[in-house]
Amino acid sequence: MKPPKKKEKCANCEGKGLIKLGDRKVKCARCGGTGFKPASATPKH
Ligand SMILES: [Zn+2]
Repeated sequence: MKPPKKKEKCANCEGKGLIKLGDRKVKCARCGGTGFKPASATPKH
């Protein structure tokens, strides 16, 4: 049996969902601020 879903940390923001930009933080564009990698990198039809 496989585990249902394993969430992987976003390497871009290290799972925080935010990126430090100077003295402020912005939402990570790669994961969209979730801190985790998107479920599927390639959208399937
Ligand atoms: Zn991210």
